[in-house]
Amino acid sequence: MYDSYLHDIPLYVIKEQAFKLGFKARGNTAVERILTNPVYAGMLQVQGYKEYPGGIFPAIHEAIIDNTTWQLVQNKMKKPEKIRTILDENLPLRGILKCHCGNILTGAPSRGKSGKYFNYYKCKTSKHNNISALKAHNQLAEIFELMSLPQNIISDIKKSSVTKMEENLKSNKLVVNQKKILLDAAQEKMFSVEEKWIKNEISKETYDRWYTTYNTEVTSCKDSITRLSHVDKHAFTILQKNLDLLVDLKSLYNRATITQKREFVKLVFDSNLYYQDGIYRTPTMIDLLSRNHLLMKQKGLLLYNKKRDDFSIIPSSGVAENRTRVQTSN
Ligand SMILES: [Zn+2]
Repeated sequence: MYDSYLHDIPLYVIKEQAFKLGFKARGNTAVERILTNPVYAGMLQVQGYKEYPGGIFPAIHEAIIDNTTWQLVQNKMKKPEKIRTILDENLPLRGILKCHCGNILTGAPSRGKSGKYFNYYKCKTSKHNNISALKAHNQLAEIFELMSLPQNIISDIKKSSVTKMEENLKSNKLVVNQKKILLDAAQEKMFSVEEKWIKNEISKETYDRWYTTYNTEVTSCKDSITRLSHVDKHAFTILQKNLDLLVDLKSLYNRATITQKREFVKLVFDSNLYYQDGIYRTPTMIDLLSRNHLLMKQKGLLLYNKKRDDFSIIPSSGVAENRTRVQTSN
C-alpha cells in the first residue's frame, strides 16, 4: 500500500486492490488512515499528559514499514494531488503524455464523422495536439518493439549482473558492518543519557534532546542494515527472472494491466513523454533501451533529444515551434 502510493497509483485503485486482497475495513478514508497511522512504522501517537508533551514516539512493537518510507508517504500526503487521473483502459496515457507546450494531454472519446466514437488525446490549448489515441498507441507499440533487446545482449547483461551482484554484496557487507558499529555506539550513548537522567545529573530537556538525537541515529542505522541485508538479493532475483521479458517489450506492454502500462511508460521515459507534429518526443530514455533511437526517428515514431545539463530542449512555454528546430543531431 505504501509503495503503491509512492508510485503515484491513485488512492481509489489502491483501495480496490486492497479489498481484493481481503482488506476488511470500509469507509471512504480507510486507506488514508492506514497510510497516516504511525503504528505501522513502529511508533505510537501519544496524547500530552500533565507536563509531558504529546507527539509521535518510538513504540516497542516491531515496524511493518520502515521509517523512511513512512516519512515519504507522510510528506506526499500533505501535498494536495495536482491532477486526479481516472484510469481508463482505452486511454492508458491520460495524465502522462504531455503536449509540446508542457500541458498534460487530456483523453476522452469524441464522435467521428461516421457517428462512431473514437478516443483522442488533446491539449486544452486549441490548435495544439488533438491526436487519435489509436494512432498514438500504435506508434508507442512500434517504439517498444524497437526497444526490445536481442538475446545476445540479454545474456551479456545476465553475466555482468552476476558479477555486479557479487561486488554489491561484498560492499554492502562492509557498509552493514560499519552501520552495526555506529548502531552499537548510538545505543550505548542512549543508555548513558538515560543513566545520567536517572541519577539526576541532567535536566529533562537535555535528556529529551539527546535521546531524540541518538534515537534518530539508531533508527536510521537499523533501517539501513535491514535494507542492505535483504533488498539487493531480492532485486537481483527479480532482474534475472525478468530480463528475458526484454526480448519482446511490445507484447509485454500489451499484456500489462493499465497501472503497469502507466508505470512502464513513466519509467522508460523518466516521466518526460511529449507529442508534437505527429511524433513522440523525449529528452530522457533508459539508455539500455535507446539503441534504436535513430530508427525510431526515421520511422517517424520518436525524437530522442538527449537532455543536456546546460539547457533544456523541450521548452516549458508555448514557443516550441522555433525552439525545436535548433536541435542537434544526437
Ligand atoms: Zn499544448
